[in-house]
Amino acid sequence: MIGKTHAGLGAAAGLALSDKIPGGFKIVGMLVVIIASLLPDIDHPKSIVNKYILPFKSKLVKLIIYVFLGLGVLVFNYYHGNIPAFIALGTTLIMIGFSSHRKGLTHSLLGLVIFSFIISYISNRYNMSFAVYYFIIGYGLHILCDMTTSRGVPLLYPLSKKNFKFPIIYRVGSKKGSLFEKILLIACVLYFVYRIPFVLQ
Ligand SMILES: [Zn+2]
Repeated sequence: MIGKTHAGLGAAAGLALSDKIPGGFKIVGMLVVIIASLLPDIDHPKSIVNKYILPFKSKLVKLIIYVFLGLGVLVFNYYHGNIPAFIALGTTLIMIGFSSHRKGLTHSLLGLVIFSFIISYISNRYNMSFAVYYFIIGYGLHILCDMTTSRGVPLLYPLSKKNFKFPIIYRVGSKKGSLFEKILLIACVLYFVYRIPFVLQ
């Protein structure tokens, strides 16, 4: 699934579930759910997230930048209180540098847990504990949606490298697949436009 479709689905799901989240609908929550729904593809050098992080879209640049960022976080953390969430963040960044697209951490349940832990720590610190709910919706939905594609996702990584997928799948980039994603995206936008006035009341 491409980034745009993930973002659209994430935003629609965040909006649909916002009245079940403690604190209700929040604009910041919508931003969080959209970023979270793009985040798992951070291991792909050409993904939307990396378009804004990487100056060149190559694997080597990706490796160098993520390892550098990760070490930066770890060193900073070492001198500023040794907080487990930052150790997890630094280690995760380094792992993302080394992992190739969809074969590792970011599309696994472990990835979801680690990132949610980091977000929960940061959001609690800034009195925005609702953010973690939006985060889990966006990130979790991304993984679920990728299970409808022919490549599947390594849900149980690193315990198993098996790719999990649903019984009905499509191929990303194929004619039918692209049409399917376009229709989904339009449906999400329509739902969003229809629903947002009720939520903002
Ligand atoms: Zn993905």
